[in-house]
Amino acid sequence: MVGQTTRAFGSPLRYIQGPGEFNCLPEYTKGYGRACVVIDGFLYPELSSRIKEAYQKAGSEVTTVCFEGECCQEEIERINEVIRNEQAGVLVGVGGGKTLDAAKLCSDSLELPVIIVPSSASTDAPVSEIAVLYTKDGEYIGSQKMKSNAALVLVDTEIIVKAPKRLFVAGIGDALATWFEAHACEASDAPNYIGTGYRRCKAGMAIADACLEILFTDGDEAMRALESGTVTEAFENVVEANILLSGLGFLNTGLATAHGIHSGLTALPETHKYLHGEKVAFGLVCQMVLENTPAELMDKVMLLMARIGLPISLQQLGVEATHENIMAIAQKTVEGPLVHHENFPVDLDLVYNAIVMADKLADKYK
Ligand SMILES: [Zn+2]
Repeated sequence: MVGQTTRAFGSPLRYIQGPGEFNCLPEYTKGYGRACVVIDGFLYPELSSRIKEAYQKAGSEVTTVCFEGECCQEEIERINEVIRNEQAGVLVGVGGGKTLDAAKLCSDSLELPVIIVPSSASTDAPVSEIAVLYTKDGEYIGSQKMKSNAALVLVDTEIIVKAPKRLFVAGIGDALATWFEAHACEASDAPNYIGTGYRRCKAGMAIADACLEILFTDGDEAMRALESGTVTEAFENVVEANILLSGLGFLNTGLATAHGIHSGLTALPETHKYLHGEKVAFGLVCQMVLENTPAELMDKVMLLMARIGLPISLQQLGVEATHENIMAIAQKTVEGPLVHHENFPVDLDLVYNAIVMADKLADKYK
């Protein structure tokens, strides 16, 4: 229970999504002074020259920095040094989760506005004010909350449609869980992620509802568009669901068992190579078992996940379904806070049994 009646809603200042929007960056950074653009190493060769050209056309200058792979203190200091030397007035992060998190952390430490440009629709992190810090060897240190959210989240769907299919599918996994976790948190009156945790506004719940609706209506069509490399209305809708609706949904309504099981799965090193949304997808199956979700809704979710290739069994996450493995996942899950956002008491046995049953359920939908 939240322990107070105050409700709260948070979001980036602006969200803009459309084909070719990346080239409009000069226009969006114009009011802030010189822009420093941090780009994922993988995308740097292509996007760095493209962005320089766009700024040249606009008659202004830009600084580009190649992100060197790890979101760690050393890398943040290196980027901050460039920003200070160039006297940049705005920072832009372009790429995957770690690049975007590094941009958030740099902007937070220098108190500069940040623009977030995700290169795939693989998670809902771009619209959140949370960043994860690692050591330079890639060991997890912890997540940090920024003082404020992004000035702009800019999504170029021509870039997103070219990203690997697996990333988009994982984003759907993360987004599918939003509605279920929102409703679990509403039932238990668990806190959201705004400030120190408030009750959810109706707006947050409406966003979670829209997110699921879009995935059911446009999910398959969006996959076909992605496979043919074409940006369509259905594709745009699912990109919005994966990034904006899923992100605002979780930030404003909270997380529950699906993400709790995701954390539990990380107890097993064999799951580390699987993507966030892939682990959340199996976590969602566990949550539906735990909550005894009505068969019709469960079928709809399971069939969509199976069709688009999300993992719905332990084996699909590289885990052997042994007693020891399931116990390790269940143990780490109950030690975390998220599974306790359900509106009934959850203990080790309940989680263990839910994982066993979720794993067995996969046979029915394969
Ligand atoms: Zn997530």
